[in-house]
Amino acid sequence: MQIIPCGSVATVQAPESYFTGRVSQTPIIDREEPSRLRAAMVSFEPGARTAWHTHPLGQTLYVVSGAGLAQSWGEPVREIKAGDVISFGPGEKHWHGASSTTAMSHMAMHEALNGVHAEWLEKVTDDQYAAK
Ligand code: MN
Repeated sequence: MQIIPCGSVATVQAPESYFTGRVSQTPIIDREEPSRLRAAMVSFEPGARTAWHTHPLGQTLYVVSGAGLAQSWGEPVREIKAGDVISFGPGEKHWHGASSTTAMSHMAMHEALNGVHAEWLEKVTDDQYAAK
């Protein structure tokens, strides 16, 4: 058994190239091959969100606190809140983030395929974000 003590892993700002607004990420686990498991806590300040992106093997989000928004390409923006589980299929183009007024933190869980966890696409525009 391995215990990774709280405080031993640094929280980092999410890269500006893939996110809009202030987003912090704290790794939970990134297992070595043949495992594909990766999980992280991601915290979005109000208005903050990912860019559009896909995950080769899909992704599951567990909303730990707050309220936010998520959208798959071609579908309406949906409200998400603490306790919700959101699942995206392999290759499903989507984004997720906080609401415009409320911060949101989720645990993000996804598997790598050939070492790739995500393919990053264009930013979510203010009009797309405000469509809810
Ligand atoms: Mn995602």
